[in-house]
Amino acid sequence: EAKKNGKNNFQFFTQALNSSAAKRLNTEEELNQAIELDEFVLHYQPIIYMPTGRIKVLEALLRWQHPVKGIQTPVQFMSVAEESGQIVPIGDLAIAKACEQLAIWHNAGFSEIVVSINLSPKQLLRGAPVETIKSMLEKYQIRANSLQIEVKENLLTQDQAASIEVLNSLKAIGVGIALDDFGSGFASLSFLKKFPIDTIKIDRSFIRDLEQDERNALILQATTRLARDISLSVVIEGIETDNHIQLIRTCECDYLQGYYFAKPKAAKDLNLNQRWSAQFNKAQQLQISSNS
Ligand code: C2E
Ligand code: MG
Ligand code: MG
Ligand code: MG
Repeated sequence: EAKKNGKNNFQFFTQALNSSAAKRLNTEEELNQAIELDEFVLHYQPIIYMPTGRIKVLEALLRWQHPVKGIQTPVQFMSVAEESGQIVPIGDLAIAKACEQLAIWHNAGFSEIVVSINLSPKQLLRGAPVETIKSMLEKYQIRANSLQIEVKENLLTQDQAASIEVLNSLKAIGVGIALDDFGSGFASLSFLKKFPIDTIKIDRSFIRDLEQDERNALILQATTRLARDISLSVVIEGIETDNHIQLIRTCECDYLQGYYFAKPKAAKDLNLNQRWSAQFNKAQQLQISSNS
């Protein structure tokens, strides 16, 4: 009886494996089509500069307009694209689209706007991000410092020396470098020394956990202070509620991002003139009183 069950389990296991492998393969084929048919678009999420309450940076976030399933977010295809290497051509498309849009904004008079593009380890190490970015800056006549790239801590597990070299090349031409999802993994302060980083984006899990444990506010406060002491800009991600704004009032953080301000949207649906004065006043008042 046990033997029979064991065999059944095994069959079940291989079937499940086959179907998940088949699914991946299917997604991979669909992604090839999507590249060919140009089914990718970028949505943009504002990052608010607190001293003015205005949008300073727009993070470009990839969306796939699937012909049948509709808009797909990265969680639905990114791991396949990363594993297959398709992220390289897809990422190049994203860089091109972001630069094209940035030029439109600049020409419309929003000359201080920065666009921030996510780059995966494979794009950094297997692609040619420096060449792609240089040629797009040239094509659309954009200043390099209007562009920022975001990399995650998982670069630590890849070829560090090669990653640092690519980041140094980007930094050398003037592109900003942000460390995304800081504090979510095992990256430490040594990462900040080794990599040519200008900005850290504090992972959304910190905000999520703020309401559970008061000590998290202290950790957040210490982290933002430290980052500023070593001349890094700080973005706190994942601000969703008024209570979150209250809880981070003691943090010296210049940039905030999250659904509280705006969800990622198509460029045409964004209003770059928007100003978050009410939120800003509240946060700033509290910040001033905490500083004095
Ligand atoms: P990320 O770079 O950390 O981007 C932030 C993610 O958090 C986005 O998800 C955004 O929609 C979401 N988010 C922003 N504010 C809030 C909030 O207040 N609450 C909650 N719950 N979520 C919030 P999205 O767009 O699904 O992107 C997921 C990830 O996919 C990104 O994480 C990034 O790692 C990756 N990604 C997106 N676009 C690209 C791209 O063009 N290239 C590469 N290589 N990766 C990309
Ligand atoms: Mg990001
Ligand atoms: Mg992030
Ligand atoms: Mg994230």
